[in-house]
Amino acid sequence: MSAAAATVAHDASCIFCKIIKGEIPSFKLIETPLTYSFLDIEPTSKGHVLIIPKYHGAKLHNLPDEYLADILPVTKKLVKALNLEIDSPEGTGYNVLQNNGRIAHQVVDHVHFHLIPKPDEKSGLIVGWPAEKTDFDALGKFHKELLSKLEN
Ligand code: 5GP
Ligand code: ZN
Repeated sequence: MSAAAATVAHDASCIFCKIIKGEIPSFKLIETPLTYSFLDIEPTSKGHVLIIPKYHGAKLHNLPDEYLADILPVTKKLVKALNLEIDSPEGTGYNVLQNNGRIAHQVVDHVHFHLIPKPDEKSGLIVGWPAEKTDFDALGKFHKELLSKLEN
């Protein structure tokens, strides 16, 4: 799909819309008709990149599917360019992170995917993971509720 054919939403006050339009400078990487990517200005590790849709939506569920579908192939190319595809125990890992809402650590209200190299324990994404013990009864009940919603 061409950029002209796509449904494009912009917000004149949005910092990422300004970056897409070139009104604010950025260290641009891959650009497609639907996606723009650039270096994060305050990286958590070297190679921390942002991949954003060329469509102003605050949260993931606000985006048309074609924008979502364009983002992961771009992310994959960036993974290769950053030499993050090396599959060895010592190889650099990486995280793809997408925050929605202040409580979930979202600061900029234009959907963005972080690609964050994880070269060591101290840099990159540091995750809190408050896992609960498995409760099969509760999981089974929740699963049923969710399936009935998905079927409707
Ligand atoms: P969030 O917490 O909303 O998921 O992440 C927002 C990200 O945008 C942060 O990592 C922050 O460093 C980055 N950021 C905010 N403003 C700018 C900017 O003007 N230019 C660039 N390149 N990155 C920005
Ligand atoms: Zn925007």
